[in-house]
Amino acid sequence: MLTRPASTLAASPATPYAVYNDGLSGLAGCAHLRASLAGALAAGEPAALIYAIPHDIALVADGMGPPAVQTLLDLMGRRLAGLAGPRDSVARTADDAFVMVVRDVGSEGRALVGAEEAAERVLDALNAPFSITGDEIALDASVGVSVHPHHGATIEHLCRGADLARHEAQADGGGIALHRAGAPDPFDRLMAAARLRRAIERDELELHWQGIHRASDRRVMGTEALVRWRHPDVGLIYPGDFVPLAERTGIIEALGDWVMRDLCRQAAEWESRGLTPKLGMNVSPRQLRRRGFAGRLAAEVANHGIAPESVVFELTESDWVRSSDTLKPVLDEVRAAGMMFAVDDFGAGYSSLSRLRELPAEIIKIDRAFLRGVPEDPQATEILLGILRVAAATGADVTVEGVETEEQLELLQAHGFSFLQGFLLSRPVPADQFEPALRGAIVPERGR
Ligand code: C2E
Ligand code: CA
Ligand code: CA
Repeated sequence: MLTRPASTLAASPATPYAVYNDGLSGLAGCAHLRASLAGALAAGEPAALIYAIPHDIALVADGMGPPAVQTLLDLMGRRLAGLAGPRDSVARTADDAFVMVVRDVGSEGRALVGAEEAAERVLDALNAPFSITGDEIALDASVGVSVHPHHGATIEHLCRGADLARHEAQADGGGIALHRAGAPDPFDRLMAAARLRRAIERDELELHWQGIHRASDRRVMGTEALVRWRHPDVGLIYPGDFVPLAERTGIIEALGDWVMRDLCRQAAEWESRGLTPKLGMNVSPRQLRRRGFAGRLAAEVANHGIAPESVVFELTESDWVRSSDTLKPVLDEVRAAGMMFAVDDFGAGYSSLSRLRELPAEIIKIDRAFLRGVPEDPQATEILLGILRVAAATGADVTVEGVETEEQLELLQAHGFSFLQGFLLSRPVPADQFEPALRGAIVPERGR
């Protein structure tokens, strides 16, 4: 979750996030902190800006009540104030973090080391146990550091640098991080998330379709929908560049709804022309876990008048292994409505072989990593054939992904593996370009 940035130190003290003077622990207010930093900048002296956020304050509030949190923060503030030299200052922010300006970090050549040492003292002070109403508690913290002049020449730059570093420390589970030039900026991520959300509303997404072919004669049996973002300035963006962002920010729910709707619309359009391939739809666990997923999918399928058996939803093996307990009831519901479940990227997710028989999948898609080196590397080839036999032993249909060469096709044909997907057979293309391949398709039996 985004916490309020230290960069608010650069904002007016009147903003709700402004650093405030903490009468109880005697910490300096925002103006004092700014003055201290401005003094270092004006004098061209090195200085460190340290932004520290203690972890689990909400847990303390839940377990011991809000007055205990106040006491704790006061004690923390006092400890940090005790670390400050005569030219340093410390303030508490309105979101229960602490900001400290340390001016005695040594000469410019040594300032980074000096700043890190100061950050270590801050972290030690926050980590050491606190005694509150007779109980002892110890908390971890995330500490971000930026250093003048190394990381910026203005208060704004230094604040932002310390805040970004603090995000990095938090992403690593806590501790200290020094600002790095070129570090990924979580605020950029938030802006990208806003653009993606807009893109969905503006219908800038599109589905491309890749054939799933019968090995024996290469004819199309089905197809997989792969989402793309047609960005008005950038052009076509592939899912690897926005699906992970969508998953982290919850946008995947809106994105998944869009994909579900467009897939059903396209299926109905094809069905009206007598084309009824099986349609693979990629889903993320977060979509599945959202209440009512199965009902919404079934309603969308019914509204478009398409056969539920034509919809195959693909979930990766690793997602399945990670959350099979919570996902199983949803899978059961979707399958009860007639749709099929394909385990995607099989072999990359390390499911225990002994649990394979519990895999509730009609289709297993072998991860394309297994085709690397096949057939020239005999060991890679044996491993591929082994995993194919294991997958087939579950009774599911097996699709091999990532077939790129004639030699691979021949090998798979020779071993009688039935369904293939890959650039050799067809690339993902927009619906109108895919339609000719579909016209030569084999009509799957209803209900398998
Ligand atoms: P995936 O489900 O494993 O999809 C197959 C990916 O492999 C596609 O990449 C496809 O273009 C690529 N591919 C197919 N044949 C070959 C081949 O012979 N060689 C190589 N090197 N690659 C091949 P794409 O379209 O970039 O999609 C990447 C991933 O993004 C997908 O992997 C899937 O996990 C995710 N994705 C795509 N569409 C959606 C969606 O609508 N929702 C969600 N949640 N994820 C999606
Ligand atoms: Ca897939
Ligand atoms: Ca796959």
